Amino acid sequence: TDRIRVGIVGYGNLGRGVETSIGLNPDLELVGVFSRRDPLSVTTASPDTKVYAIADLGDFTGSVDVLILCGGSKSDLPEQTPELAANFTVVDSFDTHAKVPEHFAAVDAAAVAGGNVAVISTGWDPGLFSLNRLFGEAILPQGNTYTFWGRGLSQGHSDALRRIPGVAGAVQYTLPSEDAIGRVRAGENPELTTREQHDRECFVVLEDGADADLIRETIVTMPDYFEPYDTTVHFISAEELARDHAGMPHGGFVFRSGESSPGVTQTIEYRLALDSNPEFTSSVLVAYARAAARLAAGGAKGAHTPFDIAPGLLSPKSPEQLRAELL
Ligand code: NDP
Repeated sequence: TDRIRVGIVGYGNLGRGVETSIGLNPDLELVGVFSRRDPLSVTTASPDTKVYAIADLGDFTGSVDVLILCGGSKSDLPEQTPELAANFTVVDSFDTHAKVPEHFAAVDAAAVAGGNVAVISTGWDPGLFSLNRLFGEAILPQGNTYTFWGRGLSQGHSDALRRIPGVAGAVQYTLPSEDAIGRVRAGENPELTTREQHDRECFVVLEDGADADLIRETIVTMPDYFEPYDTTVHFISAEELARDHAGMPHGGFVFRSGESSPGVTQTIEYRLALDSNPEFTSSVLVAYARAAARLAAGGAKGAHTPFDIAPGLLSPKSPEQLRAELL
């Protein structure tokens, strides 16, 4: 059968991850990267990958089956996903949870008008974690859902540290509380406060002459970001920051725990332990691109979320093969 032809829009961490992931999926073929930057200034992981200006995408309507949109959720995707859904099958990882309904409506209008399929907000959270929250609620209507993140690098919290005067560089890791996880696993169904669910760990490089005590105090009392949590601050050298904290690990847990009858506790646990958040997110995007291309080939239209996609469509295997091998 013919391979699914994929275009990557935007070449940052996810764009690079998608490029790598396509190489692991023989039923997919990479047409190229489409960037807002001068194509000559974009260096791809593989020298064989073609880079085009996003303005030239119009020439590719007949030669790309699905575009994987790898722009940022803050300002790229709210514009790019609806715009491109007018002419292409698209998949994105939009992760601003509070704005998903608004994004869905804008993308759906464009995709319906253009007669195309769009899949929004896939990845791991939103994405695989969302599916596991849904399974838990549907299967155990009496119970509690818990999402724990980490150990993981948080971009937003790291940026907040870097904005403090006297800080030369910093990273922040979100840690799930071991104690809280233990209680959930044991089927206690605890009510957990924000402080009880996660801890925050900061690694900070000081500028020359900066006051460490003052900066520690500024961090742990910062409203919203750190004040509601138990926060540990470590001061390290620029060399240590570069050597030990350059990766982008992440992951976490989704639990559903509840009783199917009085005294009968049922607990579901789903865990991700990721060395690279962007490479994993990209791998999820690629599987959903396969599903989106198949839905489009079957005549579907409009916006979808992971809740709307049948799991079998994610797999390169046929329904017959899946029934025989995995059921
Ligand atoms: P990046 O900041 O690395 O890239 C975003 C865009 O910025 C790129 O598409 C690229 O567009 C541009 N860009 C990248 N590098 C450069 C550069 N050196 N100079 C100028 N422009 C550059 O973001 P990520 O790939 O890390 O993440 C994208 C989004 O994915 C995040 O905003 C997040 O919301 C989402 N995400 C979702 C997850 C989920 O589970 N659902 C998990 C992780 C992330 P262009 O090539 O057009 O210039």
